Formats: sequence, structure tokens, C-alpha cells
Amino acid sequence: MNKLSKLTAFLLTAAMAVSMSACTANSTAASPSAGNSGSSSSSAAAQTSVEKIKAAGKVIMSTNAEFEPFEYKDGDQIVGIDVDIAQKIADKLGVKLEIKDMAFDSLVTDLKSGKSNFIAAGMTVTDDRKKNVDFSNTYFNASQAILVQKGSALKAPSDLNGKKVGVQQGTTGDTYCTNEDGKSDVKVGSVSRYNKGVDAVTDLINGKIDAVVINNFPATKFEQKNPDKIVKLDKALTSEGYAIAVQKGDEALLKVVNEVLSEMKSSGELDKTIEKYKAALGA
Ligand code: GLN
Repeated sequence: MNKLSKLTAFLLTAAMAVSMSACTANSTAASPSAGNSGSSSSSAAAQTSVEKIKAAGKVIMSTNAEFEPFEYKDGDQIVGIDVDIAQKIADKLGVKLEIKDMAFDSLVTDLKSGKSNFIAAGMTVTDDRKKNVDFSNTYFNASQAILVQKGSALKAPSDLNGKKVGVQQGTTGDTYCTNEDGKSDVKVGSVSRYNKGVDAVTDLINGKIDAVVINNFPATKFEQKNPDKIVKLDKALTSEGYAIAVQKGDEALLKVVNEVLSEMKSSGELDKTIEKYKAALGA
């Protein structure tokens, strides 16, 4: 009797333990999936871009790696000022950085279609682009420089009037030279558009065009690579600011991007990064 009640007690305890652990197992198994299905269905719409990026474990930056020192290829790697900033953004999000390289004038469409999370491409803030993307605070002040052949008669921006000018397709240099908004002071004769700045420079060296209008930094780089063939004019055509673009309305990611930029600005890291690449450029 005694033995039996002991055995019963033991069996009962065991049974309870089993059912309790089953219960625990059930509840642990059930709750995340319930939570998941709850959050993926009911809060999928409410899930922010940042939550999605964290869940995916990666953030996708799109760029045009033909814009030294902001983004360019070093062997099979894409490096540059924008890549360093993008890496900080990925670090802040705690995810991996993936870089997609494409033609500059495909960047906005690609971002709009959701194939990337942000554009970091030395991209100038313009009213026209603002219709399609949202911009972060600016992180670099740039200008549109003019490259001409060494010894050229072209000495100042106004000398571009009526001349053949090469630009990088879809850039602010392109917009200015084609006078898309009718606001340009200088009226160039014809515009040749290139996918890569380097191809425009080759045509300039070969005398196929009279000048290349391109951002100041890469212009300096091209001048240094071809010191006896081309020169950069002292006076620039325009001044502008670079920023990172996110999808329209993507406030969550924009906030993170702006936080990273202001942290990099106040810690002096942004200046250091720019100086590092300037030094590599010899500028
Ligand atoms: N800053 C220029 C623009 O936004 C050029 C950028 C680039 O060629 N990567 O149009």
C-alpha cells in the first residue's frame, strides 16, 4: 500500500513533469510562431525598413563604382568614402553590407523598385531627384569642375559656350550642360554622354570633345593621372552637396543614416575618411 502510493506519487510526479515540459515545449514552440505569424501578417505592413533589414541580416547599397575617391574598384573590391560611410550604417544596424554596382542613371529606378536600401554614390541633392527619393543631410560639398586639354584656349566656364562637352550620363554635370531646367548660365554647343568619366577623359585627350564637366574630386584624380595632357580649370561651373538617398518615405532608415553621418561629423571621423582618400589621391 505504502509502496503503491509511493509508486503512484512517483508516476504522478513524472507524468506531471512530462506534461509540464510538454507544455513548456509547446508554449515555447508555439509562442514564437504565433508571434511570428502575428507580426509577419498583422505587422508586416507596420514593419519598418530597419526591422526588415535586420531580419534579412544585410543592407544593400547601390552605387556606380566609377567615381574615385567616393567609390571605385580596388582589385575586385569596391572601396571609397561612400563605402566607408555605408559600412558604418551597416555596423549601426548590426548587419552585413552588400554593394550593388550599376550605371549612375539606373540608381534611382533601382532604389525605387526596392532592389536596394540606399544609394551612396556621391549623389548631389537636386529638386528633380527629390521627387523620387528622400535625401539625408549632406556630407560633402562639391563642385562641377571643367577639364580641358593642356594648352587649350578654354580658360573659364563661359568659354564652354558653343563647345563640345563630355559629361557622365545622368549626373548633375549632364543636367547643367544640357540645360534641362533652363537655368544654366553657360550654353554649351553639344553634349556627349558617357557611362564612365574615364571614357569622356579619353575622348578629351584624343580631341573628340573640347572639355569634360565632372565633379571636382574625380576631376583632380583624372588631372593627376594625365598631368601632361589635361588640366582642370580654376573656376568651377557649379557648387553642390552630396547626400545618401533612401526610398521616398523611408523615415526609419533615413534616421539611422543621419545619425551615422552626424556621429561621423562630430567625432571627426568623416573628415578623417575624406582626408584618407584625398591623401590616396594626392589631392
Ligand atoms: N555628383 C554628381 C551627381 O550627383 C555625380 C555623381 C557620380 O557620378 N557618381 O550627379
